[in-house]
Amino acid sequence: MGAITIQDVRVITTQPAGARLVVVKVITSEPGLYGVGCATFTQRFHAVVTAIEKHLKPFLLGRDVSRIEEIYRMATVHSYWRNGPVLNNAISGVDQALWDIKGKLAGMPVYDLLGGKCREAAAVYGHAGGRTPEEVLESVYRFRERGYRYIRVQLGPYGGRPSKSVRPEGAPEGAYYDPREYMRNTLRMLEYVRNAVGDEVELLHDVHERLHPIDAVLFAKEVERFRLFFLEDPLAPEDLEWFENIRQQCATPIAMGELFNHPREWQPLIAGRLIDFIRMHVSQMGGITPARHVAAFAHMYGVRTAWHGPGDTSPVGHAANLHLDLWAPNFGVQEWCGFPDHVYEIFPGLPEVRDGYMYPNDRPGLGIDVNEELAARFPCRDEVEFWTQARLPDGSPARP
Ligand code: MG
Repeated sequence: MGAITIQDVRVITTQPAGARLVVVKVITSEPGLYGVGCATFTQRFHAVVTAIEKHLKPFLLGRDVSRIEEIYRMATVHSYWRNGPVLNNAISGVDQALWDIKGKLAGMPVYDLLGGKCREAAAVYGHAGGRTPEEVLESVYRFRERGYRYIRVQLGPYGGRPSKSVRPEGAPEGAYYDPREYMRNTLRMLEYVRNAVGDEVELLHDVHERLHPIDAVLFAKEVERFRLFFLEDPLAPEDLEWFENIRQQCATPIAMGELFNHPREWQPLIAGRLIDFIRMHVSQMGGITPARHVAAFAHMYGVRTAWHGPGDTSPVGHAANLHLDLWAPNFGVQEWCGFPDHVYEIFPGLPEVRDGYMYPNDRPGLGIDVNEELAARFPCRDEVEFWTQARLPDGSPARP
């Protein structure tokens, strides 16, 4: 049999819920055989679409679909300039689609191609939140009633809602937060929730890199007594050396990585045993191919996976997360925000969550498809994002 080759690469953009989603469809020389992959970089989706249509597609046409590793390697270096979020997402769309195709050819789900299941389903965590500790607790109870055993707790938006800070006259609009007030309020919330729910529920919290490094060290120490399942992104990628300070001073489990797109960001944290969960955004790091390498590397150092799984990961990306989760011996937990019912119609095969577990459907490949006609009914809207225009109390720009 001659090689099956790439005949076309198409990009599907859609916004059926909150986020603008980018999905790639790789069409092969075999009639009816295609694969889908996630390339979602919601804030700059036009750039990803252009990278795929104008640059990656001409490079890919005619290539042998079986050579996933080689195509990933060559696509990464082909642009010479590499490892940025736009190009990594573009490559991920193709990479995940090639895994989907390989699975369909083999008649196996992707988790079987990776080495087979270590577990039947992936434990997920949901996002509980509220404006007050009481509201957060109510939200926690609602998740618990639905069977969730892992629950992330947040007070207000990321960084909290500043109540006491005073802006200078003439300060611009923006998503303001006060790092120190956030820290104090969150400690009170965690105390309230932990006292109410006891030790049965695994609680998580996302700092979203909103603290100054030394405050992050203090915060990680202060939350140790609440026995979190993990504390997420206490530091920014720019402050990686500070993880050692946290490690030396407390045993709060640390999760990190959703903004990472360069191997030099995760290598020292894993090799130095400075974090406990690696949680890259799989499309932002380039797809299933680099993610499985990192998962295996992390396994050697006792670091577990907790791949990023927010609403701005497409349903195809969530399916990719799930296949990695089912296979990885060092799987920790999977983030899951859920989708409204109509998204299940646009993306048939979107994994289902029952009793706090995400289940695969056992179809070959990623087990998910996209209904292009339905997707087209929800075109992406061009809006200037507001929540990422974060500001500190004096109005200066800050990390969102
Ligand atoms: Mg996060």
